[in-house]
Amino acid sequence: MKRRWTFRAYPTPAQAEHLAQTFGCCRLVYNGMLAARTAAFQRGERLTFVGTSAKLTGLKKDPDLAFLNAVSCVPLQQSLRHLQTAFANFFAKRSAYSTFKKKGRVRDRAEYTRSAFRFDGATQRLTLAKLGVLELNISRRVEVDPSTVTVTRHPSGRYYVSMVIEVADPTIKRVKTGQSVGIDFGVSRLATLSTGETIPNPKHLFHRTALLARAQRRLFRKQRGSNRYRAQRRRVARLHEKIADARKDSLHKLSTSLVRRFDSIYLEDLHLRGLVQNHRLARSLSDASIGTAIRMIEAKAEASDVSVVTIDRWFPSSKTCSVCGHLLDALPLSVRQWACPRCGTDHDRDVNAAMNILAVGQTVTVRGGGIRAVRPSGRKAGRLRSVNHSRGKHAISS
Ligand SMILES: [Zn+2]
Repeated sequence: MKRRWTFRAYPTPAQAEHLAQTFGCCRLVYNGMLAARTAAFQRGERLTFVGTSAKLTGLKKDPDLAFLNAVSCVPLQQSLRHLQTAFANFFAKRSAYSTFKKKGRVRDRAEYTRSAFRFDGATQRLTLAKLGVLELNISRRVEVDPSTVTVTRHPSGRYYVSMVIEVADPTIKRVKTGQSVGIDFGVSRLATLSTGETIPNPKHLFHRTALLARAQRRLFRKQRGSNRYRAQRRRVARLHEKIADARKDSLHKLSTSLVRRFDSIYLEDLHLRGLVQNHRLARSLSDASIGTAIRMIEAKAEASDVSVVTIDRWFPSSKTCSVCGHLLDALPLSVRQWACPRCGTDHDRDVNAAMNILAVGQTVTVRGGGIRAVRPSGRKAGRLRSVNHSRGKHAISS
């Protein structure tokens, strides 16, 4: 099974310059061949991967483009492969037509295959063609030879190296615990479980979000394209990355612990949250991390035989009493605690929501596919999308 491991990289100033040149050449080759393929396509001809490869050889002989020879030819070839993949995806209607790559807008990247790098397992040192040894922060030992190595530069100015390595089947033989859990993701808290546990947001998140909001306001006031604008844009990107890293770290811990402890995990679909329109930065960041959380939980669950069920239709999980099914007319976001007027139970807003998510999920799972979930109060509640790896990803529709 193939896995991608990523490490932070620290190029020397000279290496950074060489990498900038390599990224630039990759972009030039990609964009140039995209234009050539588009032109051929419009003439009713076909320019294939082999055709672009031959054209690249021609370009390198052009005296005006001699700089292409200063960088390793492998990343340039790989750019042609990426373009080929983009076209294959387009023709298979899997993606839109490829666009030109713009400098500094997305991650710059250069991909090296086996002939253009050497990885020494004993010293854990990576040597790239025409670049030399690149300093890496190896956070876990790489015991096998990577098949490809990709160097990326993020808008924040950080460098990363990711390696594709072959690892043994990671399915964890876990012991069934017989436990299930419903999860409510939040803005003020990372998550709340139906067991009553609350998982707080990572430390400093609130402070950093405020810094980011201010940095973004400052960016809007700067003259686009100026040096100050560029510097500010890097600052914004760096803050974004810091927040994302802290979130990701917490989400890894959360998803690992969930998959270890529970046989079935019930979640609310992220898209439903869009119903509550809110343009606040904290909200959009938290929505982005919920997407990441769901993907992490699904991936880890699949590797360890745990089922994940996502409730994909709107269901008033916060406003419904998880004990008697009483539905409140309204529950403002500011209300964190409430008492049920019918049965008198005191509820923590998020724990109650998580318990409802668990209950709705289990109702449908027990009844099997094809039946709509029905709450104890008799209201139609939701349709479920089951992500059970043994049956594959599919929808149970009513
Ligand atoms: Zn009640």
